[in-house]
Amino acid sequence: MELSNLTLIVTDDCNFNCPYCFQKKEEKYIDVFTAKNAVDFFFPFLKQSCDINFYGGEPLLAFEQIREIFNYIQDKNKNLKKQIQYSITSNGSLINDDILQFLNQNKFFLLLSFDGLAQDVSRKKGSFAPIVSILERLIGCADIELETNSVFTADTVGYLSRSIRFIIESGVPTANISFSNLPPWSESALVLLKKELSELQGFILSFYRETGAIPLANFRKNLSENVFACYAGKDRIALSPDGSLWGCCFFYDYFKGKEKSKEFLKYCFGSLESFMENHERIYPEILKNYSNLRMEYFFTSNNFCMLCEKMTDCVVCPIDAAFGSSVIGKIPGWVCRLRKVMREEKLNFLEDLESLSHS
Ligand code: SF4
Ligand code: SF4
Repeated sequence: MELSNLTLIVTDDCNFNCPYCFQKKEEKYIDVFTAKNAVDFFFPFLKQSCDINFYGGEPLLAFEQIREIFNYIQDKNKNLKKQIQYSITSNGSLINDDILQFLNQNKFFLLLSFDGLAQDVSRKKGSFAPIVSILERLIGCADIELETNSVFTADTVGYLSRSIRFIIESGVPTANISFSNLPPWSESALVLLKKELSELQGFILSFYRETGAIPLANFRKNLSENVFACYAGKDRIALSPDGSLWGCCFFYDYFKGKEKSKEFLKYCFGSLESFMENHERIYPEILKNYSNLRMEYFFTSNNFCMLCEKMTDCVVCPIDAAFGSSVIGKIPGWVCRLRKVMREEKLNFLEDLESLSHS
């Protein structure tokens, strides 16, 4: 076992109730003693350069636990000297002076969930203005590595271009676009997505002309030539607030309420305690199920991805898709069409970029 990432899901609780969120919220918090045990156990398996990620729900609801676990890891690492990048995914609403200072001093990577101009519609009414003022303060913190993730639904896709432009013009160095898989997207929503993305292209190109940077992660060139494979279990492991271990935090969310299914047993590495005792048997046994999560094994209701000429540029998170299809490996038809729109618009952008570099 060699891991690049250890994720600690510090709580299932959240102070927002975004309509598209697939997480089942509960007032469950990580037990710090269990988290420290997990750190002790997994530390030798973490690569010299690795990520430790705090995830939720809204992880900053468990800020005191995060601080205690962080201090424990730092202490442990005094002699071992691994290069640890700490990261956190947050809606930002609980960031105060103390948290800001902690994130900045410790050079955190922060993925801020912020939907731009759609924020009050798609996340929490009234949250746009306070998050914008937090965003300004985050941008002023030189040592926080900041990215945003904006989620659009079929109902809010009309905000996409203006929202991403607003975020980039605010000074965010990297913006990411994601899509909610629920409810399904209609053909007209996909047409609107295409229009929004092509509008955004013009702005990203002029931004590139002025700064030499491409601030939208979705439009950057893939450096890997390989067909996409889900990383879960292979280079990462996640500890949940109930003490169970998963290949990635998304699996924990997906399998909540499905504890009696056969699939649950295929993907759950069991409790931390039993894993610590029997990892030499459990890890390879469960990992082989994760190994099949590759684009060439995925399918839609009328096609195998392996037969699709677009497969090499297609990236679909199997759990994200399974929230729409209820089967891991099956991609709902409209998700496939959405991926094709994204691919086409990205290729158009890269073509324009290429001509710009030669002009
Ligand atoms: S575009 Fe659709 S069929 Fe092709 S690889 Fe992607 S999800 Fe599969
Ligand atoms: S593709 Fe999805 S399930 Fe796999 S590691 Fe990435 S986020 Fe997790």
